[in-house]
Amino acid sequence: MSSTSPAVSGLPEPSNQRIAIRLAAPAERAVKGGHPWVFADGIQQQNRAGSAGDIAVIFDRKGRFLAVGLYDPDSPIRVRVLHHGSPAKIDGQWFAHRLAEAAERRASLEAAGTNGYRLVHGENDGFPALIVDKYGLTYVIKLYSAAWLPHLRSVLQALTGQEQPERVVLRISRGMSRDPSQLYGLSDGMVLQGPPLQGPVHFLENGLRFESDVLLGQKTGFFLDQRDNRAEVEKLAAGRNVLNVFSYTGGFSLYAARGGALEVTSLDASKPAQAAAQRNFALNQGNAAVAAAVHQLLTGDAFELMNQLAEEGARFQMVIIDPPSFAKKKSEIDRAIASYRRLVRLGIDLLQRGGTLVMASCSSRVDADTFFDLIHTEARACGRPIQEIKRTSHALDHPITFPEGRYLKCLFGRVP
Ligand code: SAH
Repeated sequence: MSSTSPAVSGLPEPSNQRIAIRLAAPAERAVKGGHPWVFADGIQQQNRAGSAGDIAVIFDRKGRFLAVGLYDPDSPIRVRVLHHGSPAKIDGQWFAHRLAEAAERRASLEAAGTNGYRLVHGENDGFPALIVDKYGLTYVIKLYSAAWLPHLRSVLQALTGQEQPERVVLRISRGMSRDPSQLYGLSDGMVLQGPPLQGPVHFLENGLRFESDVLLGQKTGFFLDQRDNRAEVEKLAAGRNVLNVFSYTGGFSLYAARGGALEVTSLDASKPAQAAAQRNFALNQGNAAVAAAVHQLLTGDAFELMNQLAEEGARFQMVIIDPPSFAKKKSEIDRAIASYRRLVRLGIDLLQRGGTLVMASCSSRVDADTFFDLIHTEARACGRPIQEIKRTSHALDHPITFPEGRYLKCLFGRVP
């Protein structure tokens, strides 16, 4: 049994006292409909002030039981529902059951040569504001709410009981990190269990080898949500010259190469990500197609470099565009849409006739219809209306159970 960080024993015990909460009508409707969030202004009555992580029992206006959840006095999402419909005891056993269900849902992945995936996808797997990403035998727990701190020990026990990880790393959201005094000595990047970590860890995705810097990388080190879209790219890449824009550590690039692309250009503004993309290519030289592909790096701003490439007359047979979330706030939606439009135009300008455009969005605030429509509108305006090959959304390890959880969409199209 590997060692557990002393910080874990410094965590508080969950309180025995529950909070009784009665909802106002709109919030009552939402929770009855299975929504996992209760906002502060949806609470009509509360029997006592609570602390982060207290168990809240939610009743309707007639005093009937609706749900049980985690209380967070510092978040506008005041209660995150753990269970709807009937009373339930929330303890280590409860978390162990939810975790077993989450693993069951993903059972097919390991058989397909994938040991890096999202094991727990927050609300959608019954762990609101908590994520577990798995990279081989290294597991990363990412917390988005201090309400988990009194329950973290139980979650960790459930995880180590079920999965036998070599190592469990803790990541803490930016919001939570703002007030370290609330963290009981925990810190972002702390190893909760197992040997210390230096540098990236390695894992497999559909048989391809990748590294993930779980301490310093974006998200928990890798964009696990794009696995299925990468597999689609692999199917369409044979014999092609591919441009992968916002390539991060080269996920799409590697799949294109294994799919038989002759040349792959990875474009990203981040130098560390580019270096990791190169290392990921090196890791897969055992694959003949990857070894045969010419991989090039372009480092800098995507908009500027795409413009420049177009002016220089560069043309590709496949352009993949997977930008970061442009709309984190409501006020950013219009700008995000304008950016997507520009990227579609730039992508089309860089495509040879009959080439493939792969365009993704991870902004939950730009819905799928708006996104797909704007791609078509821009393509028509360029005089090159797209023939759709495929639209995709979430992979099975990123299940979605409520509207706000939906964020990923991707269009594959042939550009005449
Ligand atoms: N497609 C990637 C994930 C993309 S994440 C994958 O499959 O793993 C978004 C990436 O965009 C990050 O790597 C970030 O460094 C990069 N980025 C953000 N703004 C950029 C810009 N203006 N120009 C180029 N790259 C940018």
